[in-house]
Amino acid sequence: MRRSSNQYIGRFAPSPSGDLHFGSLVSAVASYADARQHFGQWILRIDDIDQPRTKAGAAESIIHTLSAFGFKWNHSIQWQSERISQYEQVIQQLKDRNAVYFCACSRKEITKIAAAGADGMIYPGTCRDQRHSENARHAIRIRTNSEKIYFTDRVFGHFEQNLGNLSGDFIIRRADDITAYQLAVVVDDYIDQVTHVVRGADLLMSTCKQIYLGGLLGYPNLKFAHTPLVIDKSGKKLSKSDRAFPVNPDTPLTALIAAWRFLGQKDIAHRVQTVEEFWDEATTTWSIQKVPAGYP
Ligand SMILES: [Zn+2]
Repeated sequence: MRRSSNQYIGRFAPSPSGDLHFGSLVSAVASYADARQHFGQWILRIDDIDQPRTKAGAAESIIHTLSAFGFKWNHSIQWQSERISQYEQVIQQLKDRNAVYFCACSRKEITKIAAAGADGMIYPGTCRDQRHSENARHAIRIRTNSEKIYFTDRVFGHFEQNLGNLSGDFIIRRADDITAYQLAVVVDDYIDQVTHVVRGADLLMSTCKQIYLGGLLGYPNLKFAHTPLVIDKSGKKLSKSDRAFPVNPDTPLTALIAAWRFLGQKDIAHRVQTVEEFWDEATTTWSIQKVPAGYP
């Protein structure tokens, strides 16, 4: 069953590499308020495909914190680690179409010759025509081209990239046999029938890769909004491994209001005493037009 055109399905997809930190809370608040304002559904998906980076207990901690903060998700929680066979099916489709190839390059070898792109190094295409066989130590790359890919971000406005200048042929399955985030997220959003992605601006540069993959696979277009990044005092993005700023599930209202202010929204602090009141006010007051476009 395909969705009707006026349906809204949003999602929040944290990776369980640590406790929920303020930067993730900001994108969760934006995503949830936007879904609620559109009478949409909201899915919680745990992006635990990268098992080496997964920290024991982190998923449970994130789920507990989101609950304490009044987030309510539709359906059961989705787990990337349970979808490996679905990712493999898609990779097989791409193999059958000759849209991918095996890459035997080490990171060191690539660093030596690659130019810097807008999103890391540009893969120079060394293995493109090498016909390497499938091998446990080979990554899989998708063939890209130099066509312009563009979209209108609901916060950042018009955005365009040429994958040739951005990344070149990028990895969809890593040499350690783990499905790359770029492919997993595209397949996930398709399976979950997501229509609207609201997430942090650290993924803005990945969006064109995901649009490219979604286009190859014939998936419906998504609407994107990227929320400003929370930067620490030295100007670095707060990451989950940064212990400095986890949010406290015992004082949810304080953190929710701080996230709300960070998102440039109209002040509602004086009108809310509880988490439930916060979400009622937030749902009616939310304005994505007020969210500042911030990228470091
Ligand atoms: Zn290679």
